Amino acid sequence: MEPGRKDLRPVVAFFTPPTLPAPMARARPAEERSGRQTPELVLAGRAFVRGRLQPVEIGLDSEGRIQSIGKVRAGGARRDLGDAVILPAATDLHVHFREPGGAAAAESIAAGTVEAALGGVTLVGDMPNNEPSVDSVETVEAKAARVRGRAAVDVLIYAAPTRAAALDGLARTAGAFKVYESPTTGIGEGVSPSSLPALLGRLAELDLPVTVHAEDPELFVPSSVPRDPAGWNAKRPVRAEDSAVERLLPPPPPLRLHVAHLTTARSIGRLRAAGVSFEASPHHLLLSERSGSDARFKVNPPLRSEEDRRGLWEAFSRGEVPCLASDHAPHPIDAKERPFEKAPSGMPGVETMLPLLLARVRAGALGLPALVAAACDRPARWLGQPLGRLAPGHRANFLIVDFRERVRLDAARLHAPCGWTAFEGWEAIFPREHYRDGVRIVDAGEYVGRPSGIVVRPEYARGAPPGAA
Ligand SMILES: [Zn+2]
Repeated sequence: MEPGRKDLRPVVAFFTPPTLPAPMARARPAEERSGRQTPELVLAGRAFVRGRLQPVEIGLDSEGRIQSIGKVRAGGARRDLGDAVILPAATDLHVHFREPGGAAAAESIAAGTVEAALGGVTLVGDMPNNEPSVDSVETVEAKAARVRGRAAVDVLIYAAPTRAAALDGLARTAGAFKVYESPTTGIGEGVSPSSLPALLGRLAELDLPVTVHAEDPELFVPSSVPRDPAGWNAKRPVRAEDSAVERLLPPPPPLRLHVAHLTTARSIGRLRAAGVSFEASPHHLLLSERSGSDARFKVNPPLRSEEDRRGLWEAFSRGEVPCLASDHAPHPIDAKERPFEKAPSGMPGVETMLPLLLARVRAGALGLPALVAAACDRPARWLGQPLGRLAPGHRANFLIVDFRERVRLDAARLHAPCGWTAFEGWEAIFPREHYRDGVRIVDAGEYVGRPSGIVVRPEYARGAPPGAA
């Protein structure tokens, strides 16, 4: 289970943003910081540090940051972790909570962030396709007000760049932009191919990261009526994704461009060569169009053939997919029980993303370095956050995981109000504990935190967090 050295090679941050985010510059070496102040808490055990698991002592300071890594000479409270390991907490770049909007009863920011905490996710990027759409300073501020005092983990707010007059204000208040090239749930119409270059050029001036949903609706097959996931894949074929990705390349500098939920390995070489970031979702990595026949397996973009799935998985396990993201979309089960063609697309995932992949590590199918890079380090860097690795100066947001604690996923024991998962019966390993800013928010697999999550923005962004005095 101990990852081999060969696993380290592919974990190259080939898409590090053009300017190094501030937190990396702020992180100082352990020897510079240790000894000046007594750590509040010292954790001793095997931790994922500098690309591998190794025995260390981690000192936390009174501000919830990692003060030192290495031998701690004197300290406060001390915990020995035995056989469990310490991993950095994950960042999920892509969730759809249902607030604000008529579906808020289906899942609130409060409920969704507790699911995130239990799944080892310490920061979520929440997408803008709410009702109303998050596309103005006012709607960003309104969502931020719903986060404060209610969220269990931190939230970065995406905005939809659909109104030209709002863009400068959004660049100072939102955390990132989300662009849709095609219609999807809550998005009636995507950006037309003819207006895409001008929009990307404009966004390139605004510093914020830009995520694109890349499917080309001109290549959808309107005549086909989908009856199952294979039919959905036929209707929204891989070539529609290939075409939409092609349209984005090369991105206008200095645009920080990221492609959401890539479903095949076909475009990976071109994206990497162009310095474009991208993500894969657990369902495209683990499920194919034959994994299930009902609308619980209906997602955009569709689940692909087993051959495509395997190609994506192999690229992911080689470290060639920079980020893992859940595309969490917790539709109520009654909506999913409609006839296939009428059911909404999307599935819940923020609570199960990391546990499913930790189980693949335990099974020997995936190296731990590839997983930590894709789930923790790179997404946090992409959003300019001092998270995602165990390093002095970074926030003390980490997980304690015992790889022996394998469970079978059972929707009845998950926390999403929707009450179902497409991964029923799959093996998973949930973090035993989750620390946020040095404070335990999950203990023995139960949420024990307070709603102290904050709204974050990339540290390289202009302006202040929404609502900051
Ligand atoms: Zn999505």
